[in-house]
Amino acid sequence: MEVTLWNNFMANHSGLGADAVIGKNLFECFPELPKTWLSKKILGVFLLKNFAFTSWEQRPYLFRFPHNRPITGGVDHMYQNCTFMPVKGAAGEVDSVCITLFDATDIGISQTELKKAMKSLSESSNRDGLTGIYNRRYLEQRLSAEFDRCRRYRDQFSFVLFDLDHFKKINDTYGHLAGDEVLCVVSQHINSLLRSVDVMGRYGGEEFGIILPATPMRSALILAERIRLAIEQAPVAYKEIAIPVTVSIGIAEFEQDAPNYEHLIGCADRALYHGKENGRNQVTCYTPEL
Ligand code: GH3
Ligand code: MG
Ligand code: MG
Repeated sequence: MEVTLWNNFMANHSGLGADAVIGKNLFECFPELPKTWLSKKILGVFLLKNFAFTSWEQRPYLFRFPHNRPITGGVDHMYQNCTFMPVKGAAGEVDSVCITLFDATDIGISQTELKKAMKSLSESSNRDGLTGIYNRRYLEQRLSAEFDRCRRYRDQFSFVLFDLDHFKKINDTYGHLAGDEVLCVVSQHINSLLRSVDVMGRYGGEEFGIILPATPMRSALILAERIRLAIEQAPVAYKEIAIPVTVSIGIAEFEQDAPNYEHLIGCADRALYHGKENGRNQVTCYTPEL
């Protein structure tokens, strides 16, 4: 592990010139190096007479060098891609190993930023812009997955669809902004009544869907009734006014012989429609008679 060559790049970044390093043991000069791992890597090159590589993604850096990028990059030290090259003598034996560091800080920073952006993009593409809860696309994606899962494992779940009663009247009476506030408050309120495994999303203008995994109809009915009552009892405060809100709720239960998840939405919708016809502010469970 004796250093035999030390170029300017290494001298500049480490702060140790060739004089201070050549002829010395690498690990004595740089005690912070990952000794076990690096020795193994170097010995491997001696033995196998082959190149070895590491990328910053596996190990951000080998030598702890400062970097000259803005602090805002979120990177502590210079990212490095490293190659370990066998240097052979006349007899074909490996005399030494040449370690090359490639400064990958820029790549590392942009990749990290990109990953962050992708994550937040994919997160926001699942969200409804007004209420912040999941949007219809995501709700249907999860519903489809839950449908397939329950068919495969003969499990059960329920789907709940609810719609604000006379919402047009709320808009007409208090204004569209008040209507928006009602949508936000009511959806957050209902979301707070759910378990973390339940998935709620905005299905349409003032219609919302909830997936209740591992929940049969009778349990879904208890929850839906609790939601209905909670909304009825909590008028939405907007400026100086308290806006009374009620919801109508339809529930459908997953059946093994259902053709697809859209069918389930259709059943919940039919139950919901029945509740509207029947006077609103009520929960209706789907039955084939509907
Ligand atoms: P019903 O009890 O039968 O459901 O009556 P409704 O008035 O709630 O039903 P309808 O479907 O006729 O009206 C829904 C209204 O919701 C119409 C539309 O202007 C309003 N709406 C849809 N999206 C939004 C929104 O994002 N913000 C606001 N403020 N209103 C919305
Ligand atoms: Mg409505
Ligand atoms: Mg509606």
